[in-house]
Amino acid sequence: MPVPDGGVALVTGGGRGIGKAIAQRLAEDGFSVVTLGRTSGDVQADVGDPDSVEQVFADVRERFGPVLVLVNNAGQRQDGLAIRMKAGQWESVIDTNLNGAFHCIRHALDDMLGARWGRIVNISSVVAERANAGQSNYGAAKAGMLSLTRTIAREMARKGITSNAVTPGVIETDMTIDVADKLLAGVPAGRIGRPEEVAHAVSFLCSDGAAYVNGATLAVDGALAA
Ligand code: NDP
Repeated sequence: MPVPDGGVALVTGGGRGIGKAIAQRLAEDGFSVVTLGRTSGDVQADVGDPDSVEQVFADVRERFGPVLVLVNNAGQRQDGLAIRMKAGQWESVIDTNLNGAFHCIRHALDDMLGARWGRIVNISSVVAERANAGQSNYGAAKAGMLSLTRTIAREMARKGITSNAVTPGVIETDMTIDVADKLLAGVPAGRIGRPEEVAHAVSFLCSDGAAYVNGATLAVDGALAA
């Protein structure tokens, strides 16, 4: 059992795409995994809604155990040039992709501090570091996630809790089905990435051997940001 005290690994957005591959990989690694989605997964919540997140964490603790591994993977895109972007488009993406990660971290930290052990992995994006026209909302949320990752690392480093980020490039999922071909031309590796390749990086960051890796950003992008 890689997690102390009967703790569980919670993967947000774990019902499909990258999150599903992460959930499968962590289960193979021996973690007891719970997946969360709006409509899919073991438990349902909108991560952008603080009340809904508070409720679901209470539910997960009672039904499965304390959350000692948290993978903030839930995300969405609503692209558009900034000049035409509606306030609702901006807010919805920031709510899910950035605020959602914060709400989940807040509750998971209660459990992790109790165990004096925890692993937080935030799934950011190459877009956090290499801007894409039409993704001001998405890019701002994903860049904010990197700062959040590092701040939590500094705040929690003495408590046995690590906080790291993964920045995937173009990965084959529902989210990229409409743009993957167009984006492929810019990928130095000459191919689209697989969800399992992101899951492999998350697996490493959740391992005992990664206890001293804290506040780091690990790119899984075929050299797209290099
Ligand atoms: P998908 O669209 O395939 O899956 C998104 C997942 O997030 C779904 O399980 C969905 O659950 C969940 N989700 C979305 N909004 C919410 C919400 N408000 N509350 C709870 N769950 C929510 O995406 P990917 O697998 O491609 O992406 C996973 C993560 O990786 C995202 O954060 C994305 O930004 C990031 N990423 C993806 C890249 C790619 O190329 N695919 C590249 C870089 C980063 P449900 O269906 O139940 O709503």
